[in-house]
Amino acid sequence: MTLPTHARTVIIGGGVIGCSIAYHLAREGRTDIVVLERSKLTSGTTWHAAGLVRRLRPSATLTKLINYSIDLYGELERETGQATGWTQTGSLTLATNPDRLTNIKCQVSLGRAFGLEAEVVDAARAKDLWPLIEVDDVIGAVWSPSDGRVNPSDVALALSKGAKSRGVKFFEDTAVTGLQKKGGRISGVEIGPHVIEADEVVIACGLWSRDVAEMAGAHMPLYGCEHFYILTKPLAEVQALGKGAHLPTLNDQDAFLYARDDVEGLLVGSFEPHAKGLPLSRLPADFSFDLLDEDWDHFMPMMENALRRIPALEQAEVRMLLNGPESFTLDSQFMLGESPEVPGLFLMGGMNSTGIALAGGAGKAMAEWIIAGEPTMELNEADIRRFSPEMNVLGALEARIPEVLGRHYDNPYQGRSMETARGQRRSPIHTGLVAAGARFEERGGWERVVHFGGENVHFPLSFGIPTWRDQVGQEVEACKTGAAILDQSAFGKIMVQGPDACAFLNHLCAAQMDVALGRIAYTQILNAQGGVESDLTVQRHGADCYLLVVGAAEVVRVLKRMRETKGAHHVEFTDVTSGYAILGLAGADAKRVLQATTTVHLPVLNRFQFAPFEIGLARCWVGKLSFTGEEGYELYIPSDMAMAAHEALVAAGASHAGLYASGSLRIESGYRAFGHELSPGTTPQEAGLGAFCAFGTGFVGEEAVKDRAVNRRIVSILFDDPNAIPIHDEPIYFAGQVVGQITSAAWSYRFGRSVALAMVTAPLDQLGTHTVVDGFAVEIACSRFTAKASLNPAKEAFV
Ligand SMILES: Cc1cc2nc3c(=O)[nH]c(=O)nc-3n(C[C@H](O)[C@H](O)[C@H](O)COP(=O)(O)OP(=O)(O)OC[C@H]3O[C@@H](n4cnc5c(N)ncnc54)[C@H](O)[C@@H]3O)c2cc1C
Repeated sequence: MTLPTHARTVIIGGGVIGCSIAYHLAREGRTDIVVLERSKLTSGTTWHAAGLVRRLRPSATLTKLINYSIDLYGELERETGQATGWTQTGSLTLATNPDRLTNIKCQVSLGRAFGLEAEVVDAARAKDLWPLIEVDDVIGAVWSPSDGRVNPSDVALALSKGAKSRGVKFFEDTAVTGLQKKGGRISGVEIGPHVIEADEVVIACGLWSRDVAEMAGAHMPLYGCEHFYILTKPLAEVQALGKGAHLPTLNDQDAFLYARDDVEGLLVGSFEPHAKGLPLSRLPADFSFDLLDEDWDHFMPMMENALRRIPALEQAEVRMLLNGPESFTLDSQFMLGESPEVPGLFLMGGMNSTGIALAGGAGKAMAEWIIAGEPTMELNEADIRRFSPEMNVLGALEARIPEVLGRHYDNPYQGRSMETARGQRRSPIHTGLVAAGARFEERGGWERVVHFGGENVHFPLSFGIPTWRDQVGQEVEACKTGAAILDQSAFGKIMVQGPDACAFLNHLCAAQMDVALGRIAYTQILNAQGGVESDLTVQRHGADCYLLVVGAAEVVRVLKRMRETKGAHHVEFTDVTSGYAILGLAGADAKRVLQATTTVHLPVLNRFQFAPFEIGLARCWVGKLSFTGEEGYELYIPSDMAMAAHEALVAAGASHAGLYASGSLRIESGYRAFGHELSPGTTPQEAGLGAFCAFGTGFVGEEAVKDRAVNRRIVSILFDDPNAIPIHDEPIYFAGQVVGQITSAAWSYRFGRSVALAMVTAPLDQLGTHTVVDGFAVEIACSRFTAKASLNPAKEAFV
C-alpha cells in the first residue's frame, strides 16, 4: 500500500486511542481515513498496560464513557473475529478508614443512578471474594461484579480490524515529522518529504502528543511518568483457584495498590505517592515495545504495602518489575477536543493511566465531535479548552505531573489542592491577600483564595463538617453586612473593539448587546444547538468598544467561539486578562467604604451600570453588581494599581471573603455557574435563563432554543437534615425514581443546612405550579436524605 497524497482524516498514533477513534469514525460512516503509526500498532504504552476496567467512577461523564467501553469490548470479538480478552471478574475496592468508605460508597450511589449494581460488603465477605488478602484493617469494601479486564493490545487490534474492514488504511513504520497549516487551519501532515493533505488531523500519540501538537503551534499540556507493576511466577494460592478461575481486580487505594491474577501468578501495581517524572528526552527516538529500567529502591515501599495486604507474596518469585511510560495531565483528567489554536486539528491524550478503560467511550465521543463539529455529550471535565497556553509551560508540567500520579487515589475532599507548580498565576493583589491570611487553592494555574482562616483552620480535610465552617460563616456575614473584598482577578477579560463590535456581539451573545454606554449586560454565549458555552457580563465602554468578563476557566473557550463567529465583522478582540484586577466589594457597608477611599464623589449607579472612579491612589471602573447576589460592587482596576486600591480599601475598613463564602451565597441566590449548572448541553431555558435571550437578534443558537420543549430544569434544593453534606454529583430521587443530580452544593449559613442547585427531570409540572415541592431524596454515600426543591432561589423560596 502506498501512502496517499490526500485523505479526509489523518489520525497520528496507532495506540488504543488512535485505533478507537479510527474505528468509531468509520462506524459512523466516515470514509477516506488514514492512520499513521511511527512503529507498530500498540508499540507505545498500550501493549504493556495492566488492562483493568472499572465502571464505578467519581463523575457521570467518566462512568458513561467506561460503561460504553465495557459493552463494546464484550462485543468486538463477535464483530471482528479478534478477541479482546474481556473477562468479567468483578472488582473489589477496600476501605481501611471511614473517609475511603464514604468515597467508594459515593461511587456506588452514582453508579446506581446509571443502573450499575454494586454492593457495599464487610471484611469477611471481602476475604471470601479475594481469599489471599489480609483484612484485619479493612472496615468495608465495595464489590462491583460487572467490572473486569481486557488484553490491551487485543483491544487495539480488534478496533483496528473493525476500522480496516470499513476501509480505514493503516500505515506502520510511518512517523509524522511535521504538520502543515493553510490560513491558520490544519492542512496536512509531513512524513519526511511526503505530504498527505488532509481536512482534519487527529493527534493520538500518547506520551509524544505534546511535541507533535507543537509542530502546528497547538498546546497539549501533558507529560510522562514512570509507572510500575510487578509480575510474579505462578503461586500455589492462585493455582488453587482452579483452571480458568480468576480473582476480581483488587483496589487497595489506602495502600496505593491494585492487583489481579496473571497467568496463575499475580500482577500488583501502584500509584505510589512519590512518583517519577519522565522527560521525553530520556526515551530513545526508536522507543518501541520497550520498557524503562526496573527501580526496586523506588518500588520497595509499595512492595512492603503489598506484602502486608497479600502475605502469599512472601513466597512468590517476582518475574519482573515492569516500568512503563504513561502520560498525565495537570488536573488528572484526560483531554480531548479540537485545538483552540488550530482549527481542524483534534487532540486526545493524557489518559492518566485509564486509557484502556476509556478508549472505547472516549474514542466514540471524539469521533462524534469530529463529525458534528461539537461535542455530542457532556464532556466538560475532559474538554481541552479548559487548558490555557499558560498551563502548557514545561516547568509547570515537570513539577506537577509526578504529584498527579501520586494522588491518583486521593479522596476528593473539598479543600484538596495540588502542592506542586504553585504560584504560577497570582492576582495583582496577591501579597495583600497573603497578609490577610488567605488560604489558596490552585485552579487553572491561578492561586485562588478559598477562605481567610490561613492554613490552621484548613486541615484536616474530611467529608464531614469542614474545619473552616465558622471562618467562612464570618466571611459570609461580612459579605452581607460589612464590606468584603472578593478577589475575582482570575476572571477572563476580553476587549472587543471595531465598527462592528455591537453587531458582532449581538450575533455571538444571546442577550441584547446594543445597550447604553456605561451599561453592563449579563448574557450567555450559545452553540448552534442552543447549549450554553459560557456565561459572562459585557460592559459597553464606547459605541465601538466593549469589555467582556468571563469565568476563569472559559477564556480559551470564548476566544475560540469568537474566532469562529467573527465572519466578515470588522472587529478585533484581545485577551486583556493580565491587564486588570477585578475586586468584588460585597455588603451593606460597601458604599461607605468605597467613598471613604477618596474625595472623588462615588457615582450614583443603578444595578448593572458602571462608571470611572478612583480608589485611593488608583483609577478604576466601578460597576453596580455582585457575584454573590448580595448588595455590592465590582471594581475593575489596572493591574499595576491594584495593590494601591487594595491598601486603600483595607484602610477604609474593608475585610475579605474567599470562594467558599461567595459559593455559599451564590447557591442561596440561585446564580448559575458554568461547569456546574451551565454546560454546552444545557439550554438557557433549562437553566431558567430564557429571559436573557433577545429573540430576533439572530444570535448563534437562536433557532435551536426558540420554542424548544423544556424537559429538565435547574432547581434550588434545601436539605431537611443538617447532617447531610453533599460531596459531588449526588443522584436525586423523587417517588422512588432517579430524577437528576446535584450540580453545586454548599453549607447555607442562613438556613443552618446544606443548600444545592440541581438539574432534575421531574416532577416538572409540580415545580412549575408550586413554590416549594417536598418529597425529594438525595443519596449521599449510599444514605438517602430528604430535601425540598424550588425553581426559585433558595433564599426566597425556603424562608
Ligand atoms: C504500567 C502501566 C499500566 C497501565 N494499566 C492500565 C490499566 O490497567 N487500565 C487502563 O485503562 N489503562 C492502563 N494504563 C494506561 C494505558 O496503557 C494508556 O492510557 C493507553 O495505552 C494510552 O494509549 P494511547 O493510544 O494514548 O498511547 P500509546 O499506546 O502510547 O499510542 C501512541 C502511539 O503514537 C505513536 N506515535 C508517537 N509519535 C508519532 C509520530 N510522530 N508519528 C506517528 N506515530 C507516532 C507511538 O508510536 C504510539 O504507538 C497503564 C499504563 C502503564 C504504563
